[in-house]
Amino acid sequence: MKAVVTGGAGFIGSHLCDHLIAHGHQVVALDDLSTGSEANLAQLRGNPAFTLVRGSILDAGLVGDLVSRCDTVFHLAAAVGVHTIVDDPLRSLRTNLHGTENVVEAAAAHGARFLIASTSEVYGKNDADGLTEDADRVYGSPLKSRWSYAAAKGLDELVAYVHSVHTGLPCVITRFFNIVGPRQTGRYGMVVPRFVDQALAGEPITVYGSGDQRRCFGSVFDVVPAAVRLLDTPEAHRRAVNLGGTEEVTIRELADRVVALTGSSSEIRYVSYEDAYGAGYEDMRRRMPDITLAHRLTGFRPRRRLDDIIASIVQHRRTAAAPRAAVA
Ligand code: UDP
Repeated sequence: MKAVVTGGAGFIGSHLCDHLIAHGHQVVALDDLSTGSEANLAQLRGNPAFTLVRGSILDAGLVGDLVSRCDTVFHLAAAVGVHTIVDDPLRSLRTNLHGTENVVEAAAAHGARFLIASTSEVYGKNDADGLTEDADRVYGSPLKSRWSYAAAKGLDELVAYVHSVHTGLPCVITRFFNIVGPRQTGRYGMVVPRFVDQALAGEPITVYGSGDQRRCFGSVFDVVPAAVRLLDTPEAHRRAVNLGGTEEVTIRELADRVVALTGSSSEIRYVSYEDAYGAGYEDMRRRMPDITLAHRLTGFRPRRRLDDIIASIVQHRRTAAAPRAAVA
């Protein structure tokens, strides 16, 4: 395969590039390096099968040019992270809407297979016990820009789906649920790397709200191969498929586990949502995937347990080259 990976210097994108290269494919990563980093791709530098192009998915000419020379597009570029979204909802909307249109249109025009990384955010406040892919979206007030990411990604799914129906574009929508692992930064939100960095720096662990909210964290090493398998599975085309872990924890439990696994002396500090994200923020109480469809289509099962995932992140942070300032 000759693949374009948009957002290839990001957390999931860089692991996808590693996976594709390890399986003998050629990869062009397109990234504007706004939240991704070249350091995530250091291991691929000099590899003749790999190229990093610094540029934006908003540049339709560049996107079309790169896609015209490839047969597969993995579209992972997006403005991500709760802080990114609440700080600059306009940028988030532009990137996630217009950028995705450019990438989908290029894939359709050049007959490339297409995978778009979507998110459990599209379910909004639906806190069902195991969200199936056809579960309803439950969003808060349309006047709250907090919902801009969920709304844009939901629309992105439709853009991809409708193009697929009209042009025959082979297309898969993967909905990632709180995927974590080495290289993820806590700078833009993302609770696990934040807690790990805070614990390693001996700083207070900032639990937002009551800490009773629940999440299922999934390993990047489990979901990346599954995403590629989905694109190779014709029955998965024109579908949205949940990918993630099913081990559920409260954020308070997560904080306790990170403290235990790092041996940190950090205290737990409870921070109001307003102080964390500004007025009017609404959190998801619970978010748990039903992964029956991914299992049926590809045999997907999350293999890594949360403690092992956290331990691998701790290990990665401890061995990371440069010491970094702890997140605020
Ligand atoms: N969170 C927290 N402390 C932090 C960052 C996040 O308590 O420093 C909470 C956040 O409010 C949410 C959960 O952790 O309830 C997961 O946050 P994240 O941004 O990782 O993903 P989300 O599920 O919100 O997309």
